[in-house]
Amino acid sequence: MNRKYRNTIIAANLKMNMLPSNIKAYAEALKPAASAYGKRCGIVVCPSFVLVPQAVKAFRDSRVSVGAQNVSQFESGAYTGEVSAPQLADLGVRYVIIGHSERREMFGETDETVNQKVHAALAANLRPIVCVGETLAQREMGITSEVITLQVKSALAGVPATKVRRVVIAYEPVWAIGTGLAATDTEAAAVCREIRTLVRGLYGARIARAVSILYGGSMNEQNTRGLLAQPDIDGGLIGSASLSPETLSAIIEIASHDYV
Ligand code: PEP
Repeated sequence: MNRKYRNTIIAANLKMNMLPSNIKAYAEALKPAASAYGKRCGIVVCPSFVLVPQAVKAFRDSRVSVGAQNVSQFESGAYTGEVSAPQLADLGVRYVIIGHSERREMFGETDETVNQKVHAALAANLRPIVCVGETLAQREMGITSEVITLQVKSALAGVPATKVRRVVIAYEPVWAIGTGLAATDTEAAAVCREIRTLVRGLYGARIARAVSILYGGSMNEQNTRGLLAQPDIDGGLIGSASLSPETLSAIIEIASHDYV
């Protein structure tokens, strides 16, 4: 992390968990940590679409922003089952996860649709959290850099310099998601550094310095400190560990300290 130039962000990806009737209790349990540490650490909770209205209500007047886990690339019209960026923004959503590996693997999301969704989100004033990451096979083939470069460059294609600071990039090695096998601090730091170098090449040093880059993949109370001590890791996208508001609170507390 480097608080001088960019925000620390802890984002919770609740995935397809929790019922609408549970979100209020979750929010109440998270609020003490949010009010204690939310000044030093941006907090984002991303529930399923059906929980979003209750989540916005439950976190109103707190330091927690609500995010969605997906968004349509289209603005409105005949797209049955889809949810648009203007609809989310109108509800009070501030962030949206785009291109999560589960969506890329199981729901046909491509670098092209990810790019379209980034544009749709920015146009509605939502902050995209763009997920990139290599599979185990790609890492073993030694093509991690190539995969990350392609994913980052295509996600940001056509995004003007005036808007790119609003984009958050999450490095999520696919092999680390939900496996309990997080990347080591060194592995995560190396890829996050590469991502910042890539952004620098595309937009220049000032913008690259300001873009928040998160790590995601089996992040928990034990490994948060080491990961956030890396200069180019500005926070975390947390899946399984975020389902417990107590664990998420502990992670937020850890993220509120200075490590570099
Ligand atoms: C995720 O799915 O974005 C994620 C990081 O999950 P987990 O923390 O469970 O690995």
